[in-house]
Amino acid sequence: MSKQDIRVPDIGDFDRVPVIEILVEEGDAVEAEQSLVTLESDKATMEVPSPAAGRLLELKVAEGDEVSEGDVIAVIEAESTGESADEPSDSPEGTSSSESSSQSSGQASDQSSGQPSNESPRQSPRQSSNQSSNQSSNQSSNQSTGKEGDPEDQAQAGGGSSAEAGRHASSSERDYDLVVLGAGPGGYTAAFRAADLGLKVALIERYPDLGGVCLNVGCIPSKALLHVGQIIDAADQLGAHGVRFGAPDIDLDTLRDYKNGVVSKLTGGLAGMADKRGVAVVHGRAEFSGSHSITIESKDESREVTFGQCVIAAGSRVIEIPGIPMEDPRVMDSAGALELEEIPARLLVVGGGIIGLEMACVYRSLGSEVTVVELMDQLMAGADSDLVRPLHQRMKKLGVTFFLETRVAGVEAGESTLTARFEGRDAPDSADFDRVLVCVGRRPNGDQINAPAAGVEVDERGFIPVDGQMRSSRAHIFAIGDLVGQPMLAHKASYEGKVAAEVAAGHKRAADARVIPSVAYTDPEVAWVGLTEGQAKKQGLDYGVGKFPWAASGRALGMDRSEGLTKLLFDNGSGQLLGAGVVGSHAGDLIAELTLAIEMSCTAEDIGLTIHPHPTLSESVMMAAEVYEGTITDLYLPKKK
Ligand SMILES: Cc1cc2nc3c(=O)[nH]c(=O)nc-3n(C[C@H](O)[C@H](O)[C@H](O)COP(=O)(O)OP(=O)(O)OC[C@H]3O[C@@H](n4cnc5c(N)ncnc54)[C@H](O)[C@@H]3O)c2cc1C
Repeated sequence: MSKQDIRVPDIGDFDRVPVIEILVEEGDAVEAEQSLVTLESDKATMEVPSPAAGRLLELKVAEGDEVSEGDVIAVIEAESTGESADEPSDSPEGTSSSESSSQSSGQASDQSSGQPSNESPRQSPRQSSNQSSNQSSNQSSNQSTGKEGDPEDQAQAGGGSSAEAGRHASSSERDYDLVVLGAGPGGYTAAFRAADLGLKVALIERYPDLGGVCLNVGCIPSKALLHVGQIIDAADQLGAHGVRFGAPDIDLDTLRDYKNGVVSKLTGGLAGMADKRGVAVVHGRAEFSGSHSITIESKDESREVTFGQCVIAAGSRVIEIPGIPMEDPRVMDSAGALELEEIPARLLVVGGGIIGLEMACVYRSLGSEVTVVELMDQLMAGADSDLVRPLHQRMKKLGVTFFLETRVAGVEAGESTLTARFEGRDAPDSADFDRVLVCVGRRPNGDQINAPAAGVEVDERGFIPVDGQMRSSRAHIFAIGDLVGQPMLAHKASYEGKVAAEVAAGHKRAADARVIPSVAYTDPEVAWVGLTEGQAKKQGLDYGVGKFPWAASGRALGMDRSEGLTKLLFDNGSGQLLGAGVVGSHAGDLIAELTLAIEMSCTAEDIGLTIHPHPTLSESVMMAAEVYEGTITDLYLPKKK
């Protein structure tokens, strides 16, 4: 018996190729010429065979790793055949170096214990630092063993910087199987799923709380405040029906505490779940230092972690506009507006997209006089105009002023007011405000993480291009969420996080969702999924529309919210649902059924013949399909069928 390193053979013109499949497990008996792993180049796949029969002692690569010619991929204990081994041993015992390390440690391999199986007396600088980072971060049962590497790696590590070592470390030496950069909904989902699938995972986050924009300064706090605003408005609306309340007495500190409490319940929950899963949470600002290494800077220290695979989930940041003094404390971005420092008497919202309109609803309900300025000729330009109209009309009725096709040319900060200058169709030249909220979009953070050090391509806008499995230009580095493209939404980020984690764990998965729903949690809510009518027209499709006005919905009338509309778009050939939109109370909940309907290729008949509970808003979905089919009885329409 002798130990033998199995190395990557000649791989032609390629410097590095990915390992796409591991065909054996440690401990397996292998035959001579049995394939151990599959490598892939642009042109072909290649299997690496065992040169001899024996037992597989150690696999040094994982799926997704990249390898070069000569890299050790496995160590076998070869049955003696009388033939010389691939690599002649120079140790007195006739073993290769990896064996002599093991023997000198005097320890038996114990992979199940999660302990290093063979302590080498010749530790490289990087290897010692790996061990300390493992100890400080993650000692869970799903840790892979921290085995010492082969002599080639040690020589490289000893001779170069630690970043250099990270690039060359073999998979069994690296600190983590998977490092996730960014703990938003994309990142924490990827980290948790990967840990559940048995990978040793680190989750890096620059802020103290997990959850990213969504939980801390996005979806969750905004929805908590919208809920409060909607109750204030509903109470006021009841006055018309004989139930009168006094004007709301708003205690801003308590309201802020409520919103912060919702956020901290969720972010605390994430920290607990990371702990339970054995995900190592590392706080600090991260940047790539090599293709398998990341440097993390925190207040107290700078450290490097190495990884087999990585998921970039660094999200996005707000776009600022020149001419608006963001440094003035009265000028806010969405995160500032959610801080709820005061209820300004006059608030200017720059940007009539989803976030701007949600915040406009919150501040109007709390008592601000709100003006919204939008560059385009329609609010929420992505949605069909007939779905946006009921929202626009209701907000106008409640006192919000809108200037469409208008540009904010600048804001001057005076002592007591902010003076905004406008250029546009119906806007005045200027107007005074107490606060200005800038909500003109978000830009991806792909340019903030030194991606070139890992060889990851980033486009000129900061997006990271990915394939259907969420792999970046480097096969072992995935990217997900806001920084891979539109729509920048939390549910898209978490979906992609799961795909990336499952692919990283060796599952055959791809991001193949047909559609991603969008929701504005304004009052009324606006939600849409799949093709809009505008897109269907532009594409010249043969489509038909079924619209059900909520003025005919008993439930909507009972709620005094009859301004809603449910609109379904069907392919006239197949009858399949192509797209859907809903405006009205709880539109965001109703759109889920329509998303499933598109995923399941439902036809108008499928939807129309599905019994929906009465009286609910969900009936409007069934009835819109019946309108398209011409079978509706709750409306009188000229007979179709
Ligand atoms: C006001 C507002 C309301 C919103 N409402 C909704 C909504 O209702 N529904 C919805 O679906 N979407 C909503 N969104 C969008 C949603 O928040 C994002 O789409 C989502 O958070 C994106 O998730 P992500 O994981 O890609 O990135 P993010 O949530 O942005 O998380 C990225 C994380 O990476 C960290 N990070 C970045 N760079 C580094 C670095 N170098 N080192 C360490 N850590 C780093 C960041 O600190 C952050 O925690 C809203 C956004 C805003 C601003």
